[in-house]
Amino acid sequence: MEKTFETVNEQQTQKLGEVLGKLLYPGDFLALKGDLGAGKTAFTKGIAKGLGISDDITSPTFTIINEYAGKIPLAHMDAYRLASPEELENIGFSDYLSDFVVVLEWADKVQQLLPENVIWIDFKVLNEGVRQIYFKSDCKHYDEIMQELKI
Ligand code: ADP
Ligand code: MG
Repeated sequence: MEKTFETVNEQQTQKLGEVLGKLLYPGDFLALKGDLGAGKTAFTKGIAKGLGISDDITSPTFTIINEYAGKIPLAHMDAYRLASPEELENIGFSDYLSDFVVVLEWADKVQQLLPENVIWIDFKVLNEGVRQIYFKSDCKHYDEIMQELKI
């Protein structure tokens, strides 16, 4: 299934993330892609809120993985600065796959590490405040989640 949204400000992107966050389960994996400043981290802030996490979400660009406790815990990862996919494996990537919701920014840089079933979410800057957010999944579990997704 594929689904496309357009948001007109950061709050709306966060809200879409929050709606999605409420539909997720431990073990779910969101593979985010799109240019710097396209809204991946903003969206992840909403996901965290939807998971019942009240901590401030900061970009994991330098830390690579940030984890947050919640009703369902969140692992927020960023592959932007990685020299190789192995670097992400070495800092424990696979430890998060079953008990956390995992959100990975720049997932296209580490394709070979990804689990078989993920939701791909592609962020594009349309103009200053406007972002196109395109969702794609190939499995029934995520199709059911995406069906519920709305702004
Ligand atoms: P990324 O993680 O993809 O590099 P960020 O979420 O950190 O991007 O930054 C997105 C930037 O774009 C923020 O400064 C935000 O205020 C701005 N912005 C403008 N319009 C939007 C929108 N519709 N959705 C998300 N962010 C937006
Ligand atoms: Mg980011």
